[in-house]
Amino acid sequence: KDLVIAIDGPAGAGKSTVAKIIAERLGYIYIDTGAMYRALTLKVLNQAYDLEDEKKLGTLAENTDIKLVKAGEDNLVLLDGEDVTAEIRDNKVSNNVSVVAKVAKVREEMVKLQRQMAQSGGVVMDGRDIGTVVLPDADIKIFLTASVEERAQRRYDELIDKGEDVDLEQIKGEIIRRDDIDKNREVAPLTEAEDAIYVDTTKLDIGQVVEEILNICQE
Ligand code: C5P
Repeated sequence: KDLVIAIDGPAGAGKSTVAKIIAERLGYIYIDTGAMYRALTLKVLNQAYDLEDEKKLGTLAENTDIKLVKAGEDNLVLLDGEDVTAEIRDNKVSNNVSVVAKVAKVREEMVKLQRQMAQSGGVVMDGRDIGTVVLPDADIKIFLTASVEERAQRRYDELIDKGEDVDLEQIKGEIIRRDDIDKNREVAPLTEAEDAIYVDTTKLDIGQVVEEILNICQE
């Protein structure tokens, strides 16, 4: 049977890396919901919208075309038809996305799209509210987390790899701030679904996390 797998957790827990590998191994589609909020945030920043104007942000979400498409090995993110896959990873987007993502109307639009994408089954979807809100009937729910030090270190290594000049303490501060907004927002706050399986990846490498989740899928 084709499963619906929901993976939630805070920033830098390894969700997207792990979700992508699991989707490949099972021949499922991978849906990165964070990329959708990031794409919208990029548009908000490019158009110099007021981040406090929730009504405008909601209207913008309604009038924005966001698509996740698979092109060979890559998962491309298209914003109104334009490839923004790389740009949405910019620090500027990371540091503003939680403010955009806490708007109720924005979430309503994204959740609608996400449910449509999951309709076929055979999906691995990662985010913050997948097991709780988007796909409450998912067959498997994983809550992936790690210590904040470990998550900051991973993000730091990633950015250094990309050749960026970054500071570990600053990254840690940004992650704490983002988690804080995600956990304390009114709509769909980041929290573990009651029936989620909690996986702490602090001391695990990617291969170990993948195996653990695949084992859970086979049970
Ligand atoms: O997963 P990623 O770190 O790319 O997500 C970026 C941000 O998008 C999160 O910090 C959160 O504010 C928002 N998000 C969300 N709900 C999701 C996925 C992401 O609110 N399902």
